[in-house]
Amino acid sequence: MEQQQPRVDFHCHTSASDGSLAPQELLNRAIEAKLDMLAITDHDTIDGYSQLACRQPAGLQLVSGIELSAVWKTRGVHIVGLNFDPANDELAALIKKQQESRQRRAVRIAQKLENLGVGNALQGAKNIAENAPLSRVHFAKFLVETGAVKTIKIAFSRYLGAGKPGDIRNEWVSMEEAVACIRAASGVAVLAHPDAYKLTKTKRRALARDFVAAGGEAIEIISGSQSPELTRQLCALAADLGCAASIGSDFHSDEQVWRKLGTCGYVPEQLRPVWEMFKPHRW
Ligand code: AMP
Ligand code: MN
Ligand code: MN
Ligand code: MN
Repeated sequence: MEQQQPRVDFHCHTSASDGSLAPQELLNRAIEAKLDMLAITDHDTIDGYSQLACRQPAGLQLVSGIELSAVWKTRGVHIVGLNFDPANDELAALIKKQQESRQRRAVRIAQKLENLGVGNALQGAKNIAENAPLSRVHFAKFLVETGAVKTIKIAFSRYLGAGKPGDIRNEWVSMEEAVACIRAASGVAVLAHPDAYKLTKTKRRALARDFVAAGGEAIEIISGSQSPELTRQLCALAADLGCAASIGSDFHSDEQVWRKLGTCGYVPEQLRPVWEMFKPHRW
């Protein structure tokens, strides 16, 4: 049964945000891996799609995607949008607002780093990002490049990760706003990697309930490689809340060996796969 399911990846990043591969390189990888469906879910941008040579490659269904940064009860959460109308005005306005927040945050991160003795970080991160919206990953790469730290991991644990000076509470949209906007654009809103928010199981459930109350329709039951126990818990959560199931690698680069494009497993029989909710494709 499982083997008859389409092979999909509904969560991955490109150089249009904080990933390493150009959008076309990522798409080529997905085609080589014989995936049936792919969504590119860059952070707060859909620019990667306009960098593709072709949005209707033979043998693979490319689905519109985005990963929106949002706030739930003062916590940062990520909402993946799938199969929305990429020309929707409301979505375009929300993306613009998010980009402005990102830019303001980048200036503040650079100021914090300056106070800690790391100069020129804004320009340094911009050089690395090229045309992509500035991400903490670009600052992390800058810190490695300048020798301030040895690895990206250390850049996060010392400067940019939760509770560190560069982890600035940002003015992202609320979770409710993010979900409403994806729905307004005829897409499906997915609660991304529910285990990534350092929440107790009770709080994780509260988050998922609020997500569903806001109009969210699917939960990522698998994000990269994870324990079978976590998959079981997230499947139970999805079933309980009547949510469809999405799966994605959260692939960023080949260095993250636990996040390989398209190797995400399958949706168990008792859950509705998210792609069954997709309205006819419209590029
Ligand atoms: P931003 O959207 O600019 O806040 O950056 C968040 C991104 O940073 C995430 O999507 C991850 O790709 C990356 N990230 C977050 N925490 C870490 C960490 N501890 N180590 C490496 N990358 C991280
Ligand atoms: Mn990322
Ligand atoms: Mn995320
Ligand atoms: Mn992601």
